[in-house]
Amino acid sequence: MIAAHCETIADTLPVTSIIPMARDARKLPPYRLASLECNPILTVIQVGKALIGGKGFAVIAGPCSVENEVQMVATAQAVKNAGATLLRGGAFKPRSSPYSFQGLAEEGLKLLDLARRKTGLPVVTEVMDSGDIPLVASYADVVQVGTRNSQNFSLLRKLGNICKPVLLKRGLMTTIEEFLMSAEYILAAGNPRVILCERGIRTFETATRNTLDLSAIPVLKEKTHLPVIVDPSHAVGHSRFVGPMAKAALAVGADGIMVEVHVTPETALCDGPQSLRPAEFDGLMKDLRSMGSLFGRDVK
Ligand code: PEP
Ligand code: MN
Repeated sequence: MIAAHCETIADTLPVTSIIPMARDARKLPPYRLASLECNPILTVIQVGKALIGGKGFAVIAGPCSVENEVQMVATAQAVKNAGATLLRGGAFKPRSSPYSFQGLAEEGLKLLDLARRKTGLPVVTEVMDSGDIPLVASYADVVQVGTRNSQNFSLLRKLGNICKPVLLKRGLMTTIEEFLMSAEYILAAGNPRVILCERGIRTFETATRNTLDLSAIPVLKEKTHLPVIVDPSHAVGHSRFVGPMAKAALAVGADGIMVEVHVTPETALCDGPQSLRPAEFDGLMKDLRSMGSLFGRDVK
């Protein structure tokens, strides 16, 4: 997938189309490894039995944070029964307040491992500190980079050295081009398995937690071969808006979604208001399945 041989776009153009081009227009995009123009084969990332990219529609679901064994295992079983293909859960939590629940750290990773063994679902979990990469990567099937670390370039470079796929969230205030350049740091450092995740950006609007930039999906699909998924939960911040935006994500061509689900959202230690109950998630999966046939997507 990494086309180191692709020096300039001009290399791929017939001579007649090169001559009238201005010098700058012949330059490569600053995200040449992520660029679809330089690498015209779509990347499909296999994680266990799940495929991210291609014709499938990956559904990553689970609680915001790993809280305890009962909560984690019950939620994992519920999302698996509803048809999720990967399990999420944070053990290292990037909280705005230092006094909020910060996650269970390695104890949380062990509970994720238990949930994986009980359900067979691969796990996605966040790394916040580069010092924790070896630990997190030893438990995770996919290592997540959160919105706040989306432009932590030294962390991204180090994730280029691991053998696990990286789910990279778009920064709160990053443009689509900056987002692609963040992915480029990981690719350029040697890890070709990057999944992009649009999770809402900061705008003046306060009715939702962030503003889901759905238009980023077709724009990214035009610019990159990497899979692109949507996290409607952190985008909208209210559980009742999650389903509509998850369905919109499928309609605009996303390769999957990441959704927060909790067995008892009212007791959640983090992000309860945006977490779906298992029955709500099950209903969403049914809707996505019927939409999938219309949009040429296989939803499990
Ligand atoms: C998360 O997915 O747990 C999370 C903290 O999301 P974000 O980085 O998008 O806020
Ligand atoms: Mn959350």
